[in-house]
Amino acid sequence: MYMTSAEIREAFLEFFRTKGHQLVSSSSLVPHDDPTLLFTNAGMNQFKDVFLGKEQRSYVRAASSQRCVRAGGKHNDLENVGYTARHHTFFEMLGNFSFGDYFKKEAINYAWEFLTEVAKLPKERLLVTVYETDDEAFQIWNEQIGVPADRIVRIGDKSPEKKFESDNFWQMGDTGPCGPCTEIFYDHGEHIWGGPPGSPEEDGDRFIEIWNVVFMQFNRQADGTMDPLPNPSVDTGMGLERIAAILQGVHSNYEIDIFQTLIKHAAQIIGTEDLESKSLRVIADHIRSCAFLIADGVMPSNEGRGYVLRRIIRRAVRHGNKLGAKGAFFNRLVPVLANEMGAAFDELKSQIPVIEKVLKVEEEQFARTLDRGLQILDDALVELEGTQIPGELVFKLYDTYGFPADLTADIARERELTIDQEGFDREMEAQRKRAQSASSFDKDYNADLNVQHCSEFVGYDKLNDNTKVVSLFTK
Ligand code: ATP
Ligand code: MG
Ligand code: MG
Ligand code: MG
Repeated sequence: MYMTSAEIREAFLEFFRTKGHQLVSSSSLVPHDDPTLLFTNAGMNQFKDVFLGKEQRSYVRAASSQRCVRAGGKHNDLENVGYTARHHTFFEMLGNFSFGDYFKKEAINYAWEFLTEVAKLPKERLLVTVYETDDEAFQIWNEQIGVPADRIVRIGDKSPEKKFESDNFWQMGDTGPCGPCTEIFYDHGEHIWGGPPGSPEEDGDRFIEIWNVVFMQFNRQADGTMDPLPNPSVDTGMGLERIAAILQGVHSNYEIDIFQTLIKHAAQIIGTEDLESKSLRVIADHIRSCAFLIADGVMPSNEGRGYVLRRIIRRAVRHGNKLGAKGAFFNRLVPVLANEMGAAFDELKSQIPVIEKVLKVEEEQFARTLDRGLQILDDALVELEGTQIPGELVFKLYDTYGFPADLTADIARERELTIDQEGFDREMEAQRKRAQSASSFDKDYNADLNVQHCSEFVGYDKLNDNTKVVSLFTK
């Protein structure tokens, strides 16, 4: 059954509204009052204090479509963009939440009912995981829902050496609420590489995780003991773009409606015809995170959140350059994005001119040194011995040409090279010791944008303080 992204968002919220859930708007990408978090990265973030029992609400069930960014901090999918079919820096997480109200049985039933009766997904394509010792969840899936035992995979804790292995035990921190998860996967078919969760090929894109359901069941103490919570809770998250891919009959998230529109316009603006290009996918991804971050008050800068934003913008500009873009192109995607997503997100629609201007200033500034930096890099690569770009060069590109180290690493990866991160860090440290300015890329956005007179930017000064705090946590 074909559904647009907007229809899926609507249908999800409506489904949970009829199940007695309060619909709650997405919160900002800049977490409110939480210096431990770089960006909002899950639907539950805005309910953290409710789960912890520190805050009471007038409802015990909620549902939302939360804008999320995973481009730094604990969850960082920046390096996956352009390489997997399912990861974005910005995505929407559809979620339903129970604050000490319903638990496993209802949560599993709701998820199954939505997927098989509203979205009408074929049951035989679905596969679920449970935490290895969670017999209760296994039984609900097997006996009440009727999922055959061979389609229920028990998953344990992540072993430290396995980077991609899934982990079916969730915890908020070293202490506090925690509990087992159950996840729902969709099988896109055997023509796609990848294996079921728990198998060595699980990080392929054949079996794609669509929905993660967390059962907050215990309270972990500092000494490791786990006390059962008196009122266990539920926190779920489903990627809108992933379910959209299924309902639109495509494999990759980048083939869904929103992304196809962005990709087509980007190709037109840049002047390329290769719609399959990886660089176009990266640009389409990055415009969403950059535009929404600016809409939420983040400004490009040299530290904290602002530096993450600057790094994403520069990566996008570099990919445009690779496709032959002439002049500033990135900011021209803002109206296209607003057209696609403005109806669901007022924050975006109301700030189009500001977002365009910030991006334009930033991309024009970087464009001045990009070509020269790329030339220096190319020249150096001709002479390169081995497969690692020396830290000194990575640092020179950073310091003189404004190439964040991850941008150089992105170029390196395309050529099957790596960067000497330790060498780069040493150079950075040496520079810090010399007490010179961090970079020649400081920019006074107040002067450029006149933001002190602009009511949308009331959080600007405060944000600068926050970003300093955050940078302590993200190193
Ligand atoms: P994966 O294992 O595929 O990286 P995850 O386990 O890290 O996903 P969760 O933290 O469980 O993801 O987030 C809940 C849901 O949000 C996922 O099941 C998925 O549908 C969606 N999601 C997570 N990360 C991304 C992303 N980077 N881009 C798009 N959707 C995502
Ligand atoms: Mg992940
Ligand atoms: Mg996962
Ligand atoms: Mg998950």
